[in-house]
Amino acid sequence: MSEYRLEVLFTPGDIESAVARLAREINRDYRDKNPLLLGVLKGCFVFMADLVRALDMPLETEFVSLSSYGPGRTQSTGTIEVIQGLRKPVRGRHVVVVEDIVDTGTTVDFTIRYLRRRRPASVRVCALFDKSSRRRVDVPIDYRGFKVPDCFLVGYGLDYDERFRYFPGLYCLKKDV
Ligand code: 5GP
Ligand code: MG
Repeated sequence: MSEYRLEVLFTPGDIESAVARLAREINRDYRDKNPLLLGVLKGCFVFMADLVRALDMPLETEFVSLSSYGPGRTQSTGTIEVIQGLRKPVRGRHVVVVEDIVDTGTTVDFTIRYLRRRRPASVRVCALFDKSSRRRVDVPIDYRGFKVPDCFLVGYGLDYDERFRYFPGLYCLKKDV
């Protein structure tokens, strides 16, 4: 039977500093624009909650639920399923897509296209973690928290088959064989 080990990559304090920096950048760029922060569920919810509370301006929030993983998998399937789409119009809005992690780029690419068809005034991407070595689709990341190594990450909203999402730090999941 295989066992798992978690190796710390970022402490809650590291993450808090990065979120504060991202919030400063977004505050500076969106003051007076009443941006719509669009979270991509489920992974974003912890980051989104901390980010909006660090922002200091009028803003609105919305969520879409997308999935590219089946249960128990650690590899993206490459096909995106819209589990819950937008429920309010984004036409003319300044949208900031909030992602936990950009891996192959498939999800962000899909999200940007999905939004653009609905004619927003602008679309930018804020991602806390960037696993850039795995990129297959070139996507813009306008606000980036951390670059991360190519390992399976859990904690701070990221799960492994629904486990570890609630851990406050970020960990690399290592399988002992
Ligand atoms: P992409 O479409 O860029 O390949 O993957 C994006 C989604 O895959 C992320 O929003 C996240 O839900 C999931 N994902 C990618 N890398 C990891 C990882 O290391 N750990 C976890 N738990 N999810 C990941
Ligand atoms: Mg995600």
